[in-house]
Amino acid sequence: MKRLLNISDSGEIPKEYKDTPIFRLLEYHNLGLKHEIFSDPQMLIGTCMDFRLSFNIPRNFAFMIRTGGANMKNMEFKLSYAISVGGIKHIAIIGHSDCAMTKLRINEKKFVRGLVKYAKWSEKLAIKHFNTKSTVFGIKDEIDFTLKETKRLRKLYPGITVVPMIYQVEDSRLSLINEVSS
Ligand SMILES: [Zn+2]
Repeated sequence: MKRLLNISDSGEIPKEYKDTPIFRLLEYHNLGLKHEIFSDPQMLIGTCMDFRLSFNIPRNFAFMIRTGGANMKNMEFKLSYAISVGGIKHIAIIGHSDCAMTKLRINEKKFVRGLVKYAKWSEKLAIKHFNTKSTVFGIKDEIDFTLKETKRLRKLYPGITVVPMIYQVEDSRLSLINEVSS
């Protein structure tokens, strides 16, 4: 079973998402659906801070939280705000291929050297910062982590539809994570 469901036609989007912002997100981004004008937010997108990710969505369409690895840890208050005050009922958690949060160890020396050189931190503090936070924010696998985050948020917000996706940086397209195979 494939872990990702590629969407290159609206017929490939699962019927359960019909008439929801999840469906429209996939149509806008992958299928080039003409942008509508929105006055209210339709959904929330939680995704990675990676500079390569760019979303083809209309103005006013979505709240967006961007954080390394699409890790929504410590973001719950903002999610709660978007749900309660913003009125959204749909969340897409979008991890991506080639995420730097899966390779933190490789960049450890660069991380410490960079903080010392550019931010004028002491080396001791930079090392401590890396060691304490990399274990909190580092991830092993993009698909597994996105799914884990999705399940956590479904439990936290049972009335909200939370959908896991992957942004392929190679071709800038969105895929749904196939939960049947996971
Ligand atoms: Zn990333």
